[in-house]
Amino acid sequence: MKIFCVGRNYKEHTKELNNPDPQEPVIFLKPKSALVHSGKPLIHPLHTIEWEYEAEIVVRICRNGKEILAEEAYNYYKEYTLGLDLTARDVQRNLKSKGLPWEIAKAYDGSAFIGDFMKLEPNMNIQEMEFELIKNGVLVQEGNTSDMTWEIDQLIAYISKYFTLNIGDLLFTGTPAGVGELNPSDELTGLIDGQEVFQTYVV
Ligand code: ZN
Repeated sequence: MKIFCVGRNYKEHTKELNNPDPQEPVIFLKPKSALVHSGKPLIHPLHTIEWEYEAEIVVRICRNGKEILAEEAYNYYKEYTLGLDLTARDVQRNLKSKGLPWEIAKAYDGSAFIGDFMKLEPNMNIQEMEFELIKNGVLVQEGNTSDMTWEIDQLIAYISKYFTLNIGDLLFTGTPAGVGELNPSDELTGLIDGQEVFQTYVV
């Protein structure tokens, strides 16, 4: 099982981290050991003092495939949720400045949290979904999938040029602006179109 992630897929977030707009999707992976399911707390890792949430729509791959056409990509996912790409920002900044890979900042144990999956009904448009992250009762991040630079179907086409997609793989589709820090005892709620998909807290 693989976890694919996309960097810089919302322009406002790219700006807030002072990154240039990418010409192609920025893809990175997390291992299975990064995964934390809804119902479990988030464990603040010891190797960062600037631990940040990135709320992202996540889809679960339901068919095996390679070199998938964007027009066919909708057949490869039937469930979606909100997840958190949990980032050791200080560590990432340091690695980026040296041109080194990100794994220790992005792919360590517990760095990929996912909410409860919901079924994508045929009458729903995944590219028109509102999502929100609430921290300690305050709305801290909100986005709409219509603001993605690369739509989910385009991402699947791009990723599957290089990687075989397998049933159960996850795709984190990038975060909008508003990323921020997490600290012990923070309480988080994730919503998609007003419906709660997770509640968790930091220990
Ligand atoms: Zn992210």
